[in-house]
Amino acid sequence: MSKKAFITGITGQDGSYLAEFLLDRGYEVHGLIRRTSTVSTERVSHLLHHISVVDGDLTDQHSLTQAIQDIKPDEVYNLAAQSFIPTSFRQPVLTGEASALGVTRILEAVRIAKLDTKFYQASSSEMFGKAVEVPQSETTPFSPRSPYGVAKVYGHWITVNYREAYNLFAVSGILFNHESPRRGLTFITRKITMSVACLATGLKWVPQNEIGEPLVTADGKIAVGNLESKRDWGFAGDYVEAMWMMLQQKQPDDFVIGTGETHSVKEFIQTAFESAGLKNWEYHVTVDKRFYRPAEVDLLIADPAKANRKLGWKPKTSFKELVNMMVEHDIKFVKRQIEGNQK
Ligand code: NAP
Repeated sequence: MSKKAFITGITGQDGSYLAEFLLDRGYEVHGLIRRTSTVSTERVSHLLHHISVVDGDLTDQHSLTQAIQDIKPDEVYNLAAQSFIPTSFRQPVLTGEASALGVTRILEAVRIAKLDTKFYQASSSEMFGKAVEVPQSETTPFSPRSPYGVAKVYGHWITVNYREAYNLFAVSGILFNHESPRRGLTFITRKITMSVACLATGLKWVPQNEIGEPLVTADGKIAVGNLESKRDWGFAGDYVEAMWMMLQQKQPDDFVIGTGETHSVKEFIQTAFESAGLKNWEYHVTVDKRFYRPAEVDLLIADPAKANRKLGWKPKTSFKELVNMMVEHDIKFVKRQIEGNQK
């Protein structure tokens, strides 16, 4: 009989890659979708005939308890969260409700169902925030610098607590930044690649992100925050495999997942411009203090040695391949929009 997986956040970047990955391995895949006023299944539209969806919300205990009791999953992947850091400063209470207490709600649903379900929690390198050591491993103390990071620390510890208190197979994957052509447009990487695609194709109208901000300014510039900010960026498609590997271990354990390499926002921009065959990135980019974080994190760079050793996991996609993949995708996407508008 095929294994059953339940994914919260299936409509998000990681959820869509994880659903594809699990379907390829013969899983029966169920996903939690929250009711929205417009269709939110863009990233999984190609999978909708192969997955089952249930409507519910991380802020609603009953919908989670019912979903677990109905599906009886072998594995739960809790990927749903308010995941955008600037929004977490503007909506700290909502972020805590979904990204912190939401973890307890789904753990409670798993605990009371008494089904031997394995549980994965999507933790984040943002928990290291004002990092006390470089690189960061599973033993590095947390020092979060945003309401998002604080909520993720709660989610991490409640997962560890349910493992220790109730003997649940519950693990926390501490993932560093991972991107893809399916990354939300509010995130700096996708904002850059989509804006570069607009420049490369000469698109006249300006696309907006999920919170209604135009991607480029009225005078056609890409507005960014701190160009010197550095991140450890990997490819989301590689990282979902690590999530699955963690749930196939004999003993539940927590793992740091990242590339161990760091690149600045400036390098990301330069690489994206090169990839699109564009020159003179400085002319097209403007620094806007509005995009600086109220509290910036320090140098976040993963030490994924434990995952390499115990899971046999390694990233497969290089930084350059990742940026090229995103730029290529976005250029094709924008060209399709232009052709569509001309018909
Ligand atoms: P994402 O694209 O922003 O997806 C978030 C998902 O959560 C979406 O499906 C969203 O649904 C859902 N969601 C939000 N609030 C919800 C609620 N109250 N109830 C139910 N569903 C809700 O995020 P991602 O990049 O795939 O990341 C997946 C997880 O990994 C998140 O927990 C994130 O914090 C964590 N993480 C991500 C990274 C990264 O670099 N990507 C790094 C470390 C950790 P809608 O589609 O309806 O909005």
